[in-house]
Amino acid sequence: MDSNLFRLLPKMDRIIGEQRFQGLPKLLLKEAAKRAVEAARAEAAAGKEPVYEDILTDTAKIYSELSGGSLKRVINATGVPIHTNLGRSPLPECAADELKSIVCGYSNLEFDTETGKRGDRYHHAAEYLKILTGAEDAVIVNNNASAVFLVLNTFAKGKEAVVSRGELVEIGGSFRVPDVMKQSGAKMVEVGTTNKTRKADYDDAVTQKTALMMKVHRSNYEIVGFSEEASLCEVAQSAAGAGCISYYDAGSGLFVQHLPDDICRDRTIADFMSSGIDLISFSGDKMAGGCQAGIIAGKKTLINKLKKNPLMRMLRVDKMTIAVLQSVFRLYLTGRENEIPVNRMLSEGIEVLGLRAAKLAALIGGKVVSTKSTVGGGSCPMTEMKSFGVEVSVKGMSSAALDRHLRRWETPVIARVGEKVCFDVRTLDERDFETILNALGALK
Ligand SMILES: *Cc1c(COP(=O)(O)O)cnc(C)c1O
Repeated sequence: MDSNLFRLLPKMDRIIGEQRFQGLPKLLLKEAAKRAVEAARAEAAAGKEPVYEDILTDTAKIYSELSGGSLKRVINATGVPIHTNLGRSPLPECAADELKSIVCGYSNLEFDTETGKRGDRYHHAAEYLKILTGAEDAVIVNNNASAVFLVLNTFAKGKEAVVSRGELVEIGGSFRVPDVMKQSGAKMVEVGTTNKTRKADYDDAVTQKTALMMKVHRSNYEIVGFSEEASLCEVAQSAAGAGCISYYDAGSGLFVQHLPDDICRDRTIADFMSSGIDLISFSGDKMAGGCQAGIIAGKKTLINKLKKNPLMRMLRVDKMTIAVLQSVFRLYLTGRENEIPVNRMLSEGIEVLGLRAAKLAALIGGKVVSTKSTVGGGSCPMTEMKSFGVEVSVKGMSSAALDRHLRRWETPVIARVGEKVCFDVRTLDERDFETILNALGALK
């Protein structure tokens, strides 16, 4: 290693004092210069001589990245509508408009304009939820994971919660039903076997300490073949017979059955509710098409108990969540559910997708291919939807290198990558085409 190279590294003050950086906010500029020098130092350690002009260019580039922020819009060309890594459900424009009008000013979040007294933040979206699901009442928390935790903690802490062995699922790494149960203070009582659980198994598990019977939507896997499970109705009956609470973690929440059966055979939350189950929880940003939230609907007396748990204060949602959910729920109630992007993407006809792919191919010069994609977000695990994509390749560039280029574009383009790079049009809007064209054009 040549230590003389390190001596060639510029002082921070020299960079910051450069004419071209005058007027820029110091904190960000210093950080950018620091990172540029660190990069040059690492290169010097590998024997590369630092070039002052290059370090300045680097500083400018890092500054511009830092000032743009790390969270940004990306283009989802994977064809997976509820893509957890890409932020799950995109919101309808009208929900964003409503959000803006509420959060850029003051609102009656916890203020009753009739009486002039303090109001309840949860009743806003709960009113719509009651109509949509047929539940007596509802409450909203941070996400469905916290909903599960809150329900178990409120009703089964220090007591027993009965659950089928076939439903002890793991959803995306950090959510495992047995672990959540343990953390909540509930004692898990497993019944049945991996592939078969009957109502009698629940009945037989009842002891003096049984507080709750839980059913969990399997979400990201299915048990096929020699299998059997107790229906929601049966679990509700078993719990009622034992004088304890029945609870369904439905995972994803469907409000209107407008999707073809081959995409989603799940029933609606209202259907689930009519099985006689006491409580149901589900995510706000899976099939419901809203934002991150955990929605708990069911018996009024039980919802009231949930609201009184001190944990509620820690899991409570902001006005932003309530504003978004209110406008998304309204879309369902007014027959406008197709304005919710996830619903539109999932119900899009194959002819429309074919035309969209042809249009993209004509623009960027690729080949239209048929594709299959999943719903995502742990919803409908076995469903493969037929779609169309446009395959592209660039001479002298591997698909991995092309993918990397696209991911690092100003507005990153996230494609499907196999032997070739493919843009699945199910999740694309025609307004995205130009970005894809520009990103590819930069390689010519
Ligand atoms: C997705 C899912 C969860 C977790 O929901 P989040 O809203 O992501 O916290 C819990 N249970 C089931 C069955 C799920 O499918």
